[in-house]
Amino acid sequence: MALKHKSWAEPFKIKMVEPLKMTTLPYRQEKIKEAGYNTFLLRSEDVYIDLLTDSGTNAMSDYQWAGMMMGDESYAGSKNYYNLEANVQKIYGYKYLVPTHQGRGAEHLLSRALIKPGQYVAGNMYFTTTREHQELAGGIFVDVIIDEAHIPEISMPFKGNIDIEKYERLIKEKGAENIAYITVGAPVNMAGGQPVSMANMKELSAISKKNGIKVVLDATRNMENAYFIQQREEGYANIPIAEIHKEFCSLSDAATMSGKKDLIVNIGGFVALNDWDIFEELRSQVVVYEGLHTYGGLAGRDMEAMSRGMEEAIQDDYMASRVRQVEYFWNLLDDAGIPIVRPSGGHAVFIDARKFYDHIPQTQFPAQKLAADLYVENGVRTMERGIVSAGRNKVTGENNTPKLELVRCTFPRRVYTQAHLDVTAEGIIDLYEKRHQMKGLKMVYEPKQLRFFQARFEEV
Ligand SMILES: *Cc1c(COP(=O)(O)O)cnc(C)c1O
Repeated sequence: MALKHKSWAEPFKIKMVEPLKMTTLPYRQEKIKEAGYNTFLLRSEDVYIDLLTDSGTNAMSDYQWAGMMMGDESYAGSKNYYNLEANVQKIYGYKYLVPTHQGRGAEHLLSRALIKPGQYVAGNMYFTTTREHQELAGGIFVDVIIDEAHIPEISMPFKGNIDIEKYERLIKEKGAENIAYITVGAPVNMAGGQPVSMANMKELSAISKKNGIKVVLDATRNMENAYFIQQREEGYANIPIAEIHKEFCSLSDAATMSGKKDLIVNIGGFVALNDWDIFEELRSQVVVYEGLHTYGGLAGRDMEAMSRGMEEAIQDDYMASRVRQVEYFWNLLDDAGIPIVRPSGGHAVFIDARKFYDHIPQTQFPAQKLAADLYVENGVRTMERGIVSAGRNKVTGENNTPKLELVRCTFPRRVYTQAHLDVTAEGIIDLYEKRHQMKGLKMVYEPKQLRFFQARFEEV
């Protein structure tokens, strides 16, 4: 486990700042009502500290901004594409690269290429856009994560691991030929940013190979996962995360990637893989859905920023400061007795809304309401990861009822200071003290897909 109380600090300093608007309690009460109690529908200018997501909300370095000026905006064969390709080969180790506008663009292309309607797709818990694209391509998603991942109180070093028995049972019951592939998310976003161990990845990779099943890595935050392996897994303490990361990738056949997370940019993503035939298929699809295969919906400058962000993100001292900032905040809440997902994870701290609002039933959206109430409390924006995010069963139309009913406080990279984290924690603690005065919600508008983005609510 990482050192608990030893100080740490960022290996960078601030060169440019962006002022924040401070608001009053009555103002925020009005704004959250207007937004239908959905933090996605607030205007960002009405938010003080924005912990909605770490996706594309990162601060780029002077090196990346300098790269933005070097954008080669040629339609075909941009220099920046080749720079990105060289870095993907060097840092991730895959042979072929297809750039996309962001992670879900990559998921869309790969799901279409690899899934035949009616096939199963295994995964360690689900991610919203990943599962959506797998289901739109006709796949049937099966969760094969260890049971402990669904229980917030249990603390273990690699709570994102695949349950090997569940996976083998699935292969036996459905037949390997009916499984399109297995997606490994590492760390697992929806489980609280919980990592996957190298040992687990080796085991599932060997089983997959034996059965002819492809392993697709959701590499979105895989560098954070490498940091956890370095800190928590035997035999890796003195190995640079660059090496750990590459070894982990080498156990997969392909990766989908949202550059908006690990790679410290505002937009970008890609698919990377080793199989020429699938690469050819993806290259012919990317021109339909994203753009030419040497830009995939991105400007040349965006590819350059992502390529340079990759070089910075893989540094040990940077990644330690990234994850330890999250751990600092986790400790503030834990010391105050706030119910949170254990142990501290990669990109976010997850509040257990079932326990925080133990008087509000899941049918009244406790996590949705907690995120709204936290905004009203002191202008901090977070997001729901519970029954609203889980959506409906595609076949029966019933609400999925996940065990985890969470509010996610997610940390943009290189954006907020320790003082911002202190203020945020104080707001959560103040709300916890008066939690039983708070009421649940009813849903008054529900969009068909990924409903959490646009659903609207009223207080009951
Ligand atoms: C954000 C994310 C995605 C999707 O990427 P976008 O760039 O938002 O489209 C996929 N998987 C995981 C684990 C993510 O966190």
